[in-house]
Amino acid sequence: MLKGTKLYSIFNNKCPKCHTGDFFINKNSYNSDFIKMHDKCSYCGELFNKEVGFYYGAMYVSYGVNIIIGIALFMLMVLIFKLGLLTYLFSFLGIVIILFPWLMRISRLIYINIFVKFDSAKK
Ligand SMILES: [Zn+2]
Repeated sequence: MLKGTKLYSIFNNKCPKCHTGDFFINKNSYNSDFIKMHDKCSYCGELFNKEVGFYYGAMYVSYGVNIIIGIALFMLMVLIFKLGLLTYLFSFLGIVIILFPWLMRISRLIYINIFVKFDSAKK
């Protein structure tokens, strides 16, 4: 993915402003401290914790991402492969539970990318 696009920052765990410094401390989503973030960017100094409760808004992003997964899975399983609704429901729950840490991280990255624009000049 091209550096300078929001998708680069979101999928590579990078600072939304410089796309160089890491956003989360641990690169692995499936670690016990998967949600721990740096206080600020190690490269440009951008603050990641804007204010108390800033990331509550990421819950709405997470909801939206879960809806997209649910609709895509429904179309795949029920409309294309003609599987039952109960099979779909349990598959969806399983996928959402397995993806939970990754979804939390991706939601926070999407949320901060809404508010912070890319700026290649180092401060
Ligand atoms: Zn940065």
